[in-house]
Amino acid sequence: MPHILYGGDYNPDQWPERVWDEDVHLMQEAGVNLVSLAIFSWSRLEPSEGKYDFAWLDRIMDKLHAGGIAVDLATATASTPPWMSHQHPEMLPVTIDGVRLWHGARQHYCPSSPVYRSAARRLAEQMAARYAEHPALAMWHVGNEFGCHVAYCYCDVSAEAFRKWLQERHGSIEDLNRAWGTDFWSQRYSNWDEVLPPRRTPTWPNPSQQLDFMRFSSDELLACYEIEREALRERTPDVPITTNFMRFFKPLDYWKWAEREDVVSDDVYQDPSDPEAGMRSAMAGDLMRSLGRGRPWVLMEQTSSRVNWRDVNVAKAPGQMRLWSYQAVARGADGVMFFQWRQSRAGAEKFHSAMVPHRSFAAWTQCAAAASARTWRSSSTGSRGGPSSCRPSRRRGSARSHSSRSTTGRCSGPTSSAISRGRRTICPPTSSWSSPTSTWSGTRAPRA
Ligand SMILES: [Zn+2]
Repeated sequence: MPHILYGGDYNPDQWPERVWDEDVHLMQEAGVNLVSLAIFSWSRLEPSEGKYDFAWLDRIMDKLHAGGIAVDLATATASTPPWMSHQHPEMLPVTIDGVRLWHGARQHYCPSSPVYRSAARRLAEQMAARYAEHPALAMWHVGNEFGCHVAYCYCDVSAEAFRKWLQERHGSIEDLNRAWGTDFWSQRYSNWDEVLPPRRTPTWPNPSQQLDFMRFSSDELLACYEIEREALRERTPDVPITTNFMRFFKPLDYWKWAEREDVVSDDVYQDPSDPEAGMRSAMAGDLMRSLGRGRPWVLMEQTSSRVNWRDVNVAKAPGQMRLWSYQAVARGADGVMFFQWRQSRAGAEKFHSAMVPHRSFAAWTQCAAAASARTWRSSSTGSRGGPSSCRPSRRRGSARSHSSRSTTGRCSGPTSSAISRGRRTICPPTSSWSSPTSTWSGTRAPRA
């Protein structure tokens, strides 16, 4: 990977299309070379069951490609559309107390749900079929932060899947009784139908039951990931696949997951008020590098300033943003990305900071992202001019002129976008692509 990946989540469907051209222009100004696109766009891509609308995604993919921005394209399955839970309420997850979690936030699906799994597979297949040959496609981004809000589901569908998982693991009901130590507190099972997830109990539930349920739950989410990965791999065998981790997230066995990723990626939201934030990030970086068995990894998400979910946001000290970005690179990261490119227009994360604030260009010139972008450019070109100057070039195409250098191992495309799988490098092409059905005739480095 000859370049540091730089960019962020991009959710253009939140904004009118007239804003998109400015987005691409500002990305060029910032030196952005990769965006994670359409992570939460399921309801726009499949507005009703089986009816797909990719026209808007075609347009922004084309614009990004024309602007020299590569795409880490999401499968958009992280949050299900309202029609699914309306038509199939049994696909909604259930808490340990038996409370069903409803539509209205995100990640409201039971990982064992056949309805969710088949719909996610269909969408992944549709995405792969439509964008397999699109020149902007550099990487697939499956789901988002698997298990972040619903790591465990205690519904009847999950209970049945848990019993099957236990039968494969333990064999007979007697072996299960032995492994769980059910002779204590009269927990001995006489047949499989009596076995349940560790739902709310009067006091401490069986610890072995809990441990097996945690293993089962990680495997169920991994199965969701695998379903999509297989759909993508079948159509686009050379496009690297990732899903973003969350540091030391206990519910998921990341060692098992990382074996199934081409690129390990991680989301890190340090608290500037935490004196041990640097230490925690160092540990997380080392974990990601270890998960990849020494391969580079990508810092997929961090925040330029405040987040919407912390009670108190302490401002970062001058240079802290840059320091933490450099720290990731020093720990082996080949990408420094943000959530998100342009701040949300509305919704739950409206007040979460972004690389581009609501007020757009004028504000962007003073924000951390601009300073950070100049730092990347100056460090890679060897030119002087640090982030403290906070005077981004207004000259269009400044990023282009830098990145079109023909240094060995660099792309010859319009920007420094490049990502590799195996030994091959994927560079953005130099010609345009008009429609998903057309034959693209530009140049593109072969994929591994
Ligand atoms: Zn469930």
